[in-house]
Amino acid sequence: AVEVAIVEMPDPNVEPEKIFTQASVALLHAGKSDAPYVFFTPDMEEQLLRSDVIERELRSLLETPTSEHPGRLWVEYQPIVDLKTNQVVYFEALTRMHLPGLGRIPPPEFIEIAEGQQLAIQLGEWVLCESCNFLRQLQQQGFSHVYVSINISAADLLHSGFVERITRLVEQHKIPPHIINLEITESMMMYGFDAANAVLQDLRTRGFRIAIDDFGTGYSSFARLEDLNVDIIKIDKSFVDKILTAEPHRLVIGDLVRMCHRLGMEVVAEGVEEERQRLYLVEQGCDLMQGYLFSKPIEPTQALELLAAEECAGASS
Ligand code: C2E
Ligand code: CA
Ligand code: CA
Repeated sequence: AVEVAIVEMPDPNVEPEKIFTQASVALLHAGKSDAPYVFFTPDMEEQLLRSDVIERELRSLLETPTSEHPGRLWVEYQPIVDLKTNQVVYFEALTRMHLPGLGRIPPPEFIEIAEGQQLAIQLGEWVLCESCNFLRQLQQQGFSHVYVSINISAADLLHSGFVERITRLVEQHKIPPHIINLEITESMMMYGFDAANAVLQDLRTRGFRIAIDDFGTGYSSFARLEDLNVDIIKIDKSFVDKILTAEPHRLVIGDLVRMCHRLGMEVVAEGVEEERQRLYLVEQGCDLMQGYLFSKPIEPTQALELLAAEECAGASS
């Protein structure tokens, strides 16, 4: 396809190099839009500079031990709770980045940059190591029944050698794979259903549990649900939001839960914020929930405190 960048020149004395630079910046954006041409705007340059800073910082943060840069790149853990017992069953590991001058960088932004700059594998290994350290703390404090769920980038999953790499890493940390869930999004299956599904089967054979994240938003897996080599379905927040607004007969969550249960899969509802949603999910037989109603993502020490408090409450009741 032809891509055209247009640079407007209100000042006739502008230097030619500047025009070329601006045209190249606009061309980088042209690839992201459907239009055949794109006009240069100053915020394109700003965006590019911001991405550059994030990339550079991320690269250097990943190369230095985490303890040397507290508060810059870290992992928080969000509890996922059993809807029947109200107990924490596992935590989702969610990466956080904070840069001086730029503040908090939203995860989708730095993850997209990592994927575009061949940093996805390194970031994935870092999150896995952090999560293994957290799992070891959980085990040392007697919470060995609690799992951790880790998000996997498409670029990482489909990279050759992923299965061997992740298996070796958890072995090095002496963590059994069966307490690790790997979350992959539906859209990853789009790159080649059979090839991706074979990787998932390989991972399951090695003991990892597989979850489909943001279910219902991407490439339609509804039709191929029974062919998917997965253990857990995470229903996207957009469906959970509808509990509050849509007429009951229009809600598909109940049907989805029954279908998943028939296939032996566990169902998690994402983004649960209100009690009314929780009650509906319990009524529909959904297994687990995740959301601000129970807890936001928290630091490891808070997570351990939460489990300890839960245990105390259990012992006294
Ligand atoms: P996700 O995997 O769907 O993670 C759930 C997101 O929903 C998290 O956003 C979480 O903070 C947020 N959330 C949880 N409960 C609620 C709720 O009740 N209400 C609302 N409004 N939001 C809720 P976060 O941490 O900003 O992460 C965004 C996305 O970035 C994640 O979506 C995931 O796709 C990606 N991500 C985060 N950390 C990692 C990572 O370490 N590796 C990879 N590959 N992706 C990551
Ligand atoms: Ca996730
Ligand atoms: Ca999700």
